[in-house]
Amino acid sequence: MDETFNPFRIAQQQLDHAAERLGLDAATHELLRWPMREIKVTLPVRMDDGSTKIFHAFRVQYNTARGPAKGGIRWHPQETIDTVRALAAWMTWKTSVVDIPLGGGKGGVICNPKELSEAEKERLARAYIRAVAGSLGGSRDVPAPDVYTTPQIMAWMLDEYETIRGENHPGVITGKPIPLGGSQGRSDATARGGIYVTREAAAAYGIELKGGTMAVMGFGNVGHHAALLGEEILGLKLVAASDSKGGVVNPAGMDARALADHKSRTGALKGFPGTDAITNDDLLGLDVTVLFPAALENAITRDNASRLRCPMVCELANGPTAPEADAILDAKGIVVLPDFLANAGGVTVSYFEQVQNAYNFYWELQEVHQRLDSKMTHAFRSVLEMSRRNQVPLREAAYLVSVARVAEACRLRGWV
Ligand code: GLU
Repeated sequence: MDETFNPFRIAQQQLDHAAERLGLDAATHELLRWPMREIKVTLPVRMDDGSTKIFHAFRVQYNTARGPAKGGIRWHPQETIDTVRALAAWMTWKTSVVDIPLGGGKGGVICNPKELSEAEKERLARAYIRAVAGSLGGSRDVPAPDVYTTPQIMAWMLDEYETIRGENHPGVITGKPIPLGGSQGRSDATARGGIYVTREAAAAYGIELKGGTMAVMGFGNVGHHAALLGEEILGLKLVAASDSKGGVVNPAGMDARALADHKSRTGALKGFPGTDAITNDDLLGLDVTVLFPAALENAITRDNASRLRCPMVCELANGPTAPEADAILDAKGIVVLPDFLANAGGVTVSYFEQVQNAYNFYWELQEVHQRLDSKMTHAFRSVLEMSRRNQVPLREAAYLVSVARVAEACRLRGWV
């Protein structure tokens, strides 16, 4: 991996910056620079053709001062321990910025889910849980879905965990299907949270959204819901969208639901009637009101950042903007809603899911939406206030708010 783009290095640099500004003592700073616990497992999985394939996987429990480790499990061919560490660090800042009583963690399995059958996915999911079950638990570490993992995969994982324990433990994993104790509103929660933050930020910075346009990079669970909700809640018109195979553009606008149907039918966005093809780089340069990066890390780099023309970027992916690109966007006056604030809606509803599991009493969809709106709005306002008070961009302000809270919890526990 090119070290400039090593996400863990980036996460550490971002923390270093905040630690300096907050005047953290050396021990607290060093503690927060590293995962508190890492697990590496090797998983033999029987494939459909009778052969055995060996998969390598990780679970990182970054910090548990504010509560149990919390964070998704990614299945990706390019997964590395450093991506998982970075994502676990960002989960720590994410749960803190929205002020929910959880720490940060992340899991990763090196695999290409597109090459696995459903039965192979099930065996891999169960093998992963068998290997890490001893370190999981509602009060220890609580996984959830992330890139290429789904509610169905969470269901297999939950079943494996409960089979091992011989009892019901719905709170050990979130993002479950609703019949197994999942929450209403979890499936679009990451996008919805970002839409609420976009609404608040637009009001604060005087950006008119109604009648405006959006481009969405990455059309998975998060991106496609952002397109739907951007239109429904903010009145934005979808003019471009892309996935790993390329993108489509239509300046007159396109129907997000029909585009999602097209993708689920054909496996790609390209060829959607009435659109032209567009590359990911060209999509970034479109003159839209809001750009939603909703794919993977390092999509906006030093090489393409100067092309951006939108007034606002809402980072729904984790780590989509490389640090050098961040400086360029800031110099251009673009309002960047930082990832661990903008995409915290998913983990917030995961927390609601755990609360409902603990009560064994389930909320209506409307209640989830209202509580999510209130958490996201509150989080945005504290970050905005920090940004104004210290004259720093929103990302730096979000770090200051969340790192200070985690540092305080470490201090109160007597760790530092
Ligand atoms: N994977 C999501 C994220 O990156 C959600 C994590 C969770 O719900 O625990 O925020």
